[in-house]
This record gives sequence, C-alpha cells and structure tokens, in this order.
Amino acid sequence: MNNTEVVVIGAGQAGLSAAYHLRRTGRAPGRDFVVLDHSPGPGGAWQFRWPSLTYGKVHGMHALPGMQLADADPARPSSEVISAYFDRYELAFGLRVRRPVDVRAVREGPGSRLLVETSQGVWAARALINATGTWDRPFRPRYPGQEVFRGQQLHTARYPGPEAFTGQRVVVVGGGASGTQHLLELAPYAAATTWVTRRPPVFREGAFDEIAGRAAVALVEERVRQGLPPRSVVSVTGLPLDEAIRRGIADGVLDRRPMFDRITPDGVVWRDGRRVEADVILWATGFRPAIGHLAPLRLREPGGGIRVEGTRAVADPRVHLVGYGPSASTIGANRAGRAAVRDIVRLPTMPPQSDAAGEPDAA
Ligand SMILES: Cc1cc2nc3c(=O)[nH]c(=O)nc-3n(C[C@H](O)[C@H](O)[C@H](O)COP(=O)(O)OP(=O)(O)OC[C@H]3O[C@@H](n4cnc5c(N)ncnc54)[C@H](O)[C@@H]3O)c2cc1C
Repeated sequence: MNNTEVVVIGAGQAGLSAAYHLRRTGRAPGRDFVVLDHSPGPGGAWQFRWPSLTYGKVHGMHALPGMQLADADPARPSSEVISAYFDRYELAFGLRVRRPVDVRAVREGPGSRLLVETSQGVWAARALINATGTWDRPFRPRYPGQEVFRGQQLHTARYPGPEAFTGQRVVVVGGGASGTQHLLELAPYAAATTWVTRRPPVFREGAFDEIAGRAAVALVEERVRQGLPPRSVVSVTGLPLDEAIRRGIADGVLDRRPMFDRITPDGVVWRDGRRVEADVILWATGFRPAIGHLAPLRLREPGGGIRVEGTRAVADPRVHLVGYGPSASTIGANRAGRAAVRDIVRLPTMPPQSDAAGEPDAA
C-alpha cells in the first residue's frame, strides 16, 4: 500500500493542470501527490486522435499553465504536437506521471482515506482529483438491426482518417463537431455520404466571444449542479458556421436527414420507406465521462450524473472532478485544475505545505 496526500487520475490537460498547481503549493510529485495514467504515453486523449486532425484544425487549444505551446506547425497532426508538448511539460515540472497505471476502483478506506486500486497496487490518499476525460467511453446509441449490418460500423474514437473510406458509401451519425468534420473530410474520397442527426443541427453565426462562452459554460454548470449528466459543448453552443461548413452546406455534403429508424444488412431505413444503402456506418455520437471506477463511492445522483459544485463532488468533498461537464475544454480543464487544488488544500485533514509554495520553475 502506498500512502500519499492526493492522487490525480489522468494526465490530460485537466490532470496536468492539477499537478502543476499541487506542485505550486510545495507538494512533492511522486511523494505528496501522484499522477496515474493508463495510456502508453503523454498527451492525454490527444495521442489517440486521427492523423488528419492537424494542429491547425483544432479550435482554441489553450496552453497548460506555466508553459507556452509556441511555434507549433499547423500542418502536423495534433496528436504529435500536443503529445510532444505534454511530454516536455511533464519533464520540465518534474511531474513524474506513472504510466501505464489503470485505476480500477476508488473506495472508502480506513482513517478517512480513499483507496485507489490500480493495476500497479493500491494508493491510500486524503483526496482525489479525477481527470479521466471521456475518450475511454465512446457512446454509441442502440438501433434495431445493428447486429445484422453486413458493412463496417465504427465510432469516432476509431476514425482512421478519410482515405480509409475511398469508394465506400458512408452514413455518418451525429450532429456535433466530429460528425461534421468527418463528413467534410471523407466526402471527396467516399462513393456517397449521408448525414443523419437526431435533432436538426443548430449553426451559429458570428464569432464565439467570451460572453457566449461563459453563457454556454453556465448552462452545463447548472446541469452538473443538479446532478444531471453533463451535455456536450456543441449541444449548448451550436456549430460555428465557418468557411468549411458553409461550403459543405452549399455542396450538399452537410444536407442533414433525420435519424433512421432501423438498420438492415445493406444500409439504413426510415419509417416512411426511404432507404440508403451503406458500406459503413460511422457513429460520431460522442463520449461519456469515464468515471466507472468511482462507482464504489456512490456519488451518482438519481438523475444519472454526479452533483458537482465548482469541481467538488457534493457528496464527498475529498473528491474533485476536473475536465468534467463545464470544464470539459482545454481552458476549462486548466481552470478546474487550479480550483480543485485550492479547495483540496483547505480540507481539515490536509497538512499545510506552504514553505516551498510559489511558481514552479520549468527545469
Ligand atoms: C475530437 C476532439 C477534438 C477536440 N478539440 C478541442 C479543441 O480544439 N479545443 C478544446 O479546448 N477542446 C477540444 N476538445 C475537448 C478537449 O480535448 C478536452 O476538453 C480536453 O483536452 C480534455 O482533457 P482531459 O484532461 O479532461 O481529458 P483527456 O485528455 O481525455 O485525459 C484523460 C486521461 O485520463 C486517463 N485515464 C482515463 N481513465 C483512466 C483510468 N481509469 N485509469 C488511469 N488513467 C485513466 C487517460 O489515459 C487520459 O490520458 C476536443 C475533444 C475531442 C474529442
């Protein structure tokens, strides 16, 4: 059994921000706090994103606290650019991320400690910062006939890039940013594309300024305060009507149809008899928070979500969720890491460690 003050689960944007701020309080990485991550390398979920998602296509990636991401080549895959940046960051601040360590369960332990059970042993901690993101829990809705489809079905999480769809008839499901990006990319390669979404997509004219951003975050915040599952950002902001989307609408690539009713061996059908033949169904239907390992703590509300005030789980002040709900963006994750640490150091069980406090230096 390893003892520590704080366990941070996940070394994506949210977990690294939390680790940076823990270090700022004078806590020693690896001793006073540990960061555990089950992925093979640095980069959080970015390391798994498809190669055609270049750094130039990423919207508003915020740098981690204390180190800029300067001079990144917009033509390089964001998976490479951001993984390399996170790697430099972890080294510069000596964060000593342990990987691959899979956290399987967190449960109540003796002496008000939380027991973090992992593939590499158990950690007993006074507090927990959960920064596990959503990438590990792709969401795919169920539709009748799914099991009889003779073609290929895949989720955004396994999207290989547009070339893989050359000559194929592709149905893309989902009205978010990933769905529209997949369509625009693969349409020139595919034999035919069809776009289906549950609700009509909402396109947003004009720049997404700070006021609109704050309003969107407030909407998601209100949901998690009520213990409801968080909604995706696009569901509250709408899709930005940029040049590529305008072109997609004009070309007919982004001509949306309502959700089909059934999947057949050869394609999809609607109740009114319309049908589309398909070789591939690409589910761009989003992700859910990867928080199954927290189940033994029984934090979930009847509404299905965890009630969160700021970043703190209302049912257990030792547990913070960062990168969850309203903080599920790179800027939100940065802020959430700082807020969680500020709150945790005030726990009555937490020894004060202000001696070395200050801005950590990048080595
Ligand atoms: C396709 C796509 C594009 C996006 N583009 C943008 C953008 O342009 N701008 C923006 O601001 N946001 C964007 N986002 C959202 C953004 O990626 C996230 O909000 C942010 O990067 C997530 O950081 P995170 O630290 O919360 O999670 P992640 O980056 O997912 O990191 C979570 C980490 O937790 C680890 N982990 C998970 N479960 C466990 C476990 N049980 N045990 C151990 N480790 C575990 C994972 O290995 C992972 O490293 C995008 C999201 C997607 C899906």
